[in-house]
Amino acid sequence: MEGNEQTAHVALPLKYRPMTFEDVVGQEHVTRTLRNALESGRVANAYLFIGPRGIGKTTLSRIFAKALNCTNPKGVEPCGECENCVQIAAGRSIDVVELDAASHNKVEDVRPIIEAVQFKPASSKYKIFIIDECHMLTASAWNALLKTLEEPPPYVRFVFATTEGDKVLDTIVSRCQRFDLRRIQTHQIAERLRYICGKEGIDAEEDALLAIARGAEGGMRDALSSLDQLIAFKGMKITEEDALGVFGLVSRSALEGLAGAVLKGDAAAILRAVEAFDSAGKNMRRLASELMQHFRNLLVYQTLGGATTGLEATPEQVKTLAEQAKLCDSSRIFRVADQLAAMEDKLRHVLSVRTLIEMTLIRASRLATVASIEELMRAVRALRAAQPAVPPTPVAPVAPAAPRPASPAPAHAVMAPAPSPAAAPAPQLRPPAAAPAPDQPQSRDLTPEEQRQMLDDRRLNDFMGIFKGAKITDMKK
Ligand SMILES: [Zn+2]
Repeated sequence: MEGNEQTAHVALPLKYRPMTFEDVVGQEHVTRTLRNALESGRVANAYLFIGPRGIGKTTLSRIFAKALNCTNPKGVEPCGECENCVQIAAGRSIDVVELDAASHNKVEDVRPIIEAVQFKPASSKYKIFIIDECHMLTASAWNALLKTLEEPPPYVRFVFATTEGDKVLDTIVSRCQRFDLRRIQTHQIAERLRYICGKEGIDAEEDALLAIARGAEGGMRDALSSLDQLIAFKGMKITEEDALGVFGLVSRSALEGLAGAVLKGDAAAILRAVEAFDSAGKNMRRLASELMQHFRNLLVYQTLGGATTGLEATPEQVKTLAEQAKLCDSSRIFRVADQLAAMEDKLRHVLSVRTLIEMTLIRASRLATVASIEELMRAVRALRAAQPAVPPTPVAPVAPAAPRPASPAPAHAVMAPAPSPAAAPAPQLRPPAAAPAPDQPQSRDLTPEEQRQMLDDRRLNDFMGIFKGAKITDMKK
């Protein structure tokens, strides 16, 4: 509203619309193939781009059209400056025809295309037809197009785009080269936002950008629109709080705090957090799906042993994942994720989302702190490995190992939660599994024979007896 409006404001999604394949974020599998096709000169007659809205289907179609007709390409990238590039970018090229099938889906609407196909391009190499939301075309419109699609003149190319690939007829799909565009990953969107803020001189908190990216749910266009909106409201400085307010999202740190409470089995903290989110008007369904995402990340992080490829997370999030991964092992995290997945199904039908979330998280937190059979087995194996393999009679050498299982093992309920020291036993138990015990290598991988031996082992049975015996028979299965 103030003085900085001397030049007309251009909306960010428009201003930062990618102009080259290189600029396109999160669709490398598509841009690489298209560039290869252009490089080798093997461009298909028709392409079909499928994917949710706002992830770049139209943008890619135009870049591709520019690349085909550019008079001064840089490699295979369009120059963006020649007459053809400029006209296409503005949607004014007479050789590139765009049709929005959402509003023009009848035979009459495609007839001009069929007629235009007969004439060579006026001022370019190719005549290109871009048909958006092509699934909306009526069957008779498709039929009219089919002949042209089967045998187009050498100077004609088609690009179809749609949000609903399933609704496109098989006969059409089979005549196109098909690309499924992906939702753009949150950290990739955040990265792009950071770049744009730098260009625009906007001071935005890192977590503010993350919040905008989370809110956009994989759509770059939505993310840029939201950033635009926030700049209009807040000016050149944007905090996480501002961004969270727009989407009703929970802050990153609060979300991670809640996940931590689940892992530690802290029911009171869980209830406090959920209460606070609910009274602050946060979107509880989003909270549920973001928690799910967090635990998925945690599981991936742990499974890949700390590798971050395939992880949808910013560097800040990765730091938290590393800390939380130490809290318990993957089988426990899996049980939590399992509970959350079951909750997602119920979310649609439930009346009180808050109650469902509370109950699920408390149940999950209990499961997160109960030792699994695998963990007990590992403990037992570790004990065996720790014992010097010598005469069975001596009492003294066994002593150092013995107190460990004996003292902490409580003689109560079967599902006795391995109490709060959940963090403590895990690191103790893990080493033998990861690094083979030097003196007894057979304690790592058990053949069926070894398993049988182990199940008949008197010491093991004594130890497992503490847990009311049921587990031994479980294991025999
Ligand atoms: Zn050009």
